[in-house]
Amino acid sequence: MLAHMSTSVAAGRLASVLDRLAAAPGREGRLTHLERLPARPARHAPWPEWSSPEVVAAYVARGVVEPWQHQAAAADAAYAGQHVVLATGTASGKSLAYQLPALTAALAGRGPRGQRGPTTLYLAPTKALAQDQLAGLGALGVDVRVTTHDGDSGRDQREWARDHAEYVLTNPDMLHHSLLPGHERWRSFLSQLSYVVVDECHHYRGVFGAHVAQVLRRLRRICAAYGASPTFVLASATVAEPEIAAARLTGLDVLAVSGDCSPRGELSLAMWQPALTTFTGENGAPLRRAASSEAADLLADLVAADVRTLAFIRSRRGAEQVAMTAASLLAEVDPSLPERIAAYRGGYLPEERRELERQLRAGELLGLAATNALELGIDISGLDAILLAGFPGTRGAFWQQVGRAGRGAGDALGVLIARDDPLDTYLVTHPEVLLGQPVEATVFDPSNPYVLGPHLCAAAAELPLTEADLPMFGPTARAVADQLTRAGLLRHRTSGWFWTDRRRASDLADIRSAGGAPVSLVEKDTGRVVGTVDAAGAHATAHAGAVYVHRGETWLVESLDLEEHVAVIGRTDAPYSTTARETTDISIIEEQQHRGWGQCRLSFGQVEVVHQVVSFQMRRQPSGEVLGEQQLDLPERTLRTAAVWWTVPDHALHLAGLTTLDLPGSAHAAEHCSIGLLPLFATCDRWDIGGVSTAVHPDTGRLTVFVYDGHPGGAGFAERGFAAAREWLTATRDTIAACECFEGCPSCVQSPKCGNQNNPLDKSGAIRLLDVLLGD
Ligand SMILES: [Zn+2]
Ligand SMILES: [Zn+2]
Repeated sequence: MLAHMSTSVAAGRLASVLDRLAAAPGREGRLTHLERLPARPARHAPWPEWSSPEVVAAYVARGVVEPWQHQAAAADAAYAGQHVVLATGTASGKSLAYQLPALTAALAGRGPRGQRGPTTLYLAPTKALAQDQLAGLGALGVDVRVTTHDGDSGRDQREWARDHAEYVLTNPDMLHHSLLPGHERWRSFLSQLSYVVVDECHHYRGVFGAHVAQVLRRLRRICAAYGASPTFVLASATVAEPEIAAARLTGLDVLAVSGDCSPRGELSLAMWQPALTTFTGENGAPLRRAASSEAADLLADLVAADVRTLAFIRSRRGAEQVAMTAASLLAEVDPSLPERIAAYRGGYLPEERRELERQLRAGELLGLAATNALELGIDISGLDAILLAGFPGTRGAFWQQVGRAGRGAGDALGVLIARDDPLDTYLVTHPEVLLGQPVEATVFDPSNPYVLGPHLCAAAAELPLTEADLPMFGPTARAVADQLTRAGLLRHRTSGWFWTDRRRASDLADIRSAGGAPVSLVEKDTGRVVGTVDAAGAHATAHAGAVYVHRGETWLVESLDLEEHVAVIGRTDAPYSTTARETTDISIIEEQQHRGWGQCRLSFGQVEVVHQVVSFQMRRQPSGEVLGEQQLDLPERTLRTAAVWWTVPDHALHLAGLTTLDLPGSAHAAEHCSIGLLPLFATCDRWDIGGVSTAVHPDTGRLTVFVYDGHPGGAGFAERGFAAAREWLTATRDTIAACECFEGCPSCVQSPKCGNQNNPLDKSGAIRLLDVLLGD
């Protein structure tokens, strides 16, 4: 919120430093694009008339003389009782938009003896973020009773929160497991609930998003029973269609406020594509130089040019390597420079973090390599440049990381270094996707019966479920309630559905996992649970021999026990990464929607997928060289899920000169690349989705390419693919056509998780096939 007015880099200097680096010998063609985004002045608005003078005074004392226009617009809407989603960039002061009405209401609505009036419930996706909010509210110094309610809260704190707090900071997990099941004890708080803040709401996507959507519906139902109808205020990174995602999450009509009126210095944004190397991968494919190796070079060069730089690297080991390599490169330039580069490891004590922050701000430290774990826990405001070794997965995360550069309103440089995969390759050659209107939407499917079932049970346990309640839970609620009744989980009486089981109904849903009991990752020497993996993902990521990166730390899985849902892991220095390979069969259960594209047909519906993880491959890091492959003996898994698929009739294929021999490789190559690019349109990871392609599928009788959600019941990704099919498949075609390899490589049509050794793949056939599909 406060601008740091330290000396910033002279306008245009960063862009010229980058130009110089890109012109160095051997770097021809690496810089694929340089965009200079002009500085943006702040646009202010007066404080809304209804604002509490005490709250305004507190902000003014912290240097916020007037709010920015987007803050005032969102705050006004919320105060008027309009549900609102604020979708603006990093550091655009989103908190003010909900704190102003919430704190004003709490102060203005107190009873004559200071009794609690209107209350606010703040939800963050992580505990750390709620702690940050608590610190921020504390620093604001407004006399409102604020507390956190999370797994670490003691009994006294919980009681105080229920009975006295006006502003409770918690997370969806606590709402699901504690607050809603215990709603009677929270009655006084909930009956006065005026605002529900859903911060960083783009985190709620895929299966997790569907769970949180149902938790919020349960909250609305309980509030209504106590006579409250709180106003929802959501905050999000900039994504496509924020009002649609927010409406899906809450089940309410939500107004979007998205014009960012906070000031910004000039930002130079560079797209950087590493060169092809002489290393070869599978089937002799050329490999690109690793993004992290390239980042080490650029980090050294920028530090040598006195540019304060932070490099984001995927794993902690990678970050340490980058810092070490950059330091040794700098030692050749100036022996004093290496000590001005460091790697940020997680788990620093608060005082160590503050020391690091101070060194960066003071310019004693010039270069830092860090994992994404840095995002929560360190406040860096003294940087000039950000290097990203690979696209961080979503546009929101990308802008959040780039937004770390720029001291105050000073100039900033961001460099996206492409990894060797289709998505990164597409982005560095089509920067307009990152610069223009967002195309990626936060998607999830709240009506997924696998998700809805346990929440209907939890809702029934909270208060018997009535016929009138069902519409709130979506169009599938009635069918799911009947199914739960047949299964003996709910009892249906004339007045509604009841939970009569002895178990805690809320234990049926693990909102952070996607169906089935999650697998615990247990450290071998200590028995400590380090984390969990979804049941759906365990075969592919936690099999024996897998190298697993968890919060930047690298682990080796020693064994996986599927009965006990436990994987035993130990820390490793293995110089390679692993990728699991799986085979897949698919059959269509029901086509629910379709569209004709000339003679071709695009469909969305339910499918049954039988897949099996059969082996894993080891690749040297960072080069990506294939070191070997090991077989695995894991059972088949059957998955009922949602899929998008397209078919092309034979005569259209022949007309395009595609022979029967060309078809399997062409369809397979198109499938791989399309899976790599779907995350651009749906906020998913390429590991959340799978694909199958075949020259003739028994259910369609035609050449068919499927892309399916990797979670039971679907997660909304395939559905988004259906909705954005033309843009998505056009981007797929363009990525394949633009890649400079001859026969296909990891940047275009090869997939690391292919169960068929990336064979057959026909790169030029895939372009012709997609041209037929997109032709009409
Ligand atoms: Zn290629
Ligand atoms: Zn494949």
